Amino acid sequence: MAAEDGIRRLAAALREAQRVTVVTGAGVSAASGIPTFRGSGSDQLWSPSQNSSYRWPAASVAYSRGSAFGGRLRPEELATPEAFARDPNLVWEWYAWRRDLVARARPNRAHEVLAAWSRRFPRFTLVTQNVDGLHERAGTENVVRFHGSLWELACASRCAGSPPAWPHEEPFDELPPRCPSCGGLARPGVVWFGEMIPLEALARARAALDCDVCIAVGTSAVVYPAAALVAEAAERGAWTAEINPEATPASAAVDLALACPAEQALEDVEKLLSEGHPPRRSGLS
Ligand code: NAD
Ligand code: ZN
Repeated sequence: MAAEDGIRRLAAALREAQRVTVVTGAGVSAASGIPTFRGSGSDQLWSPSQNSSYRWPAASVAYSRGSAFGGRLRPEELATPEAFARDPNLVWEWYAWRRDLVARARPNRAHEVLAAWSRRFPRFTLVTQNVDGLHERAGTENVVRFHGSLWELACASRCAGSPPAWPHEEPFDELPPRCPSCGGLARPGVVWFGEMIPLEALARARAALDCDVCIAVGTSAVVYPAAALVAEAAERGAWTAEINPEATPASAAVDLALACPAEQALEDVEKLLSEGHPPRRSGLS
């Protein structure tokens, strides 16, 4: 099926929809220059000595050199409680690099169209696995953050005196940052591989699966439980679609798989939707 037909089918489904839920992954931020972990857009693995202005003891660098990836580290080697316990400096160096990259990035057309949709439909929920905050910066309403935020910190030992997470958007004076309450290590306020999704986010996401249209955008559909959301929406009767230039485990199960970059497909669908149907409300929240 030509992409054009797919765009028309998605626009037609959305024209009839009152309740729309979109599940996004790293692919929506690829056009903003934020590398994905897998698939197209994942060409920018990180290595401590090359990408960072921070300098860390030889042990950290030796760890990276010892990796099977020629000194380049895979996210699975960094975004875990085990990696943080082994070498918090190295993990923080990676997060500082990602924060710096995202701080200089801008929301792209995919974020902007989804922000417009959050005002177009009577009920709209955006569930994101992304931690970059670009959906919020684009003005999207009703964002459910499944995996936390790069812009929040938490106490690594969850001490009694600290809140569950606190905002920290400024660059760090020194790494690793400390918990202001107990003076111990602070950690990024994100959900690492093997950790639980925050219960409130899970409950809000699952409630949003009772919808007319559910679309997965830019996710490899391999990280659970996020990967199961679109299938569950289908079981509950939603019409489902996927937007991803590459096939994923979800592609065969959705009603429509659009093999296009998100920023292009969403822009094209938005053009069709806007013909004679301007957004219901306007202005940022
Ligand atoms: P992923 O890296 O596993 O997969 C990214 C997917 O995006 C791939 O399937 C790829 O084909 C697709 N893609 C690449 N360019 C695209 C484009 N222009 N349009 C549409 N799709 C495109 O990412 P994931 O599925 O989100 O899951 C991995 C975990 O990675 C998540 O937990 C997330 O928190 C984390 N992550 C977040 C960011 C971010 O916040 N920007 C970046 C990298 C990884
Ligand atoms: Zn503490």
